Amino acid sequence: MYQKCFNMTLFAVALLCLSAGSASEAQDFNRVRARMVKEQIISRGIKDPRVIKAMETVPRHLFVPQAYRSAAYGDYPVSIGEGQTISQPYIVAFMTEALELSGEDRVLEIGTGSGYQAAILAGLANEVYTIEIVEALGRRAEKLLKELGYKNVHVMIGDGHKGWPDMAPFDAIVVTCAAEDIPQALVSQLKDGGHMILPVGRRDGVQQLVKVTKTDDTVQRRDVMDVRFVPMVKE
Ligand code: SAH
Repeated sequence: MYQKCFNMTLFAVALLCLSAGSASEAQDFNRVRARMVKEQIISRGIKDPRVIKAMETVPRHLFVPQAYRSAAYGDYPVSIGEGQTISQPYIVAFMTEALELSGEDRVLEIGTGSGYQAAILAGLANEVYTIEIVEALGRRAEKLLKELGYKNVHVMIGDGHKGWPDMAPFDAIVVTCAAEDIPQALVSQLKDGGHMILPVGRRDGVQQLVKVTKTDDTVQRRDVMDVRFVPMVKE
């Protein structure tokens, strides 16, 4: 009897330590995330308070494989497996701000990857449609987003060059892999007045982050900065 009580006490203490460990780990990540927003996002000129709030809230470390979790809030891209990366936090914030979302938008993302960019968008838009060509990544992101309670993110496995015609038109489109040219299907699925942001350029050359704005069916292209993204592959 004494032995049983002792064992149960040990078990309870172990449980307590485990939960205290994960709670303090979560607090540590909260602190690191707050510092990331201050030092990498606000100090570099991101102003939209909704973008800042989303970057402060979404637990980026959960979108990164366990082995790279301690690097999740660093000022660089991080591997997410399958030879792909989650973009540097500043680039995610910059691209999100460039979409000029109203809060009522339907947004299309090409390159779901870890699901992190989609989670950021989910807090700023009405519905997020995201396409991933690597099935294992798309399914993993879909599962995680569901577990975290995101109900307005819809994942499709396929080639983003074609967009998502059944759900078009979109108020905004973000592409997180580099296309060699601006995919025309995406331009045609963008609403009048809408913005698209995407890296354009060759796999091993300089890529430009490009902002496309469609007004009265004319398409305006503005090159924003040099970037380096993984390539947008064809099916
Ligand atoms: N937005 C992601 C970043 C992922 S990296 C995040 O927040 O984690 C870019 C992703 O684009 C990769 O997962 C890659 O598999 C995917 N990709 C590449 N070519 C694609 C295509 N043609 N259609 C859809 N996804 C593509």
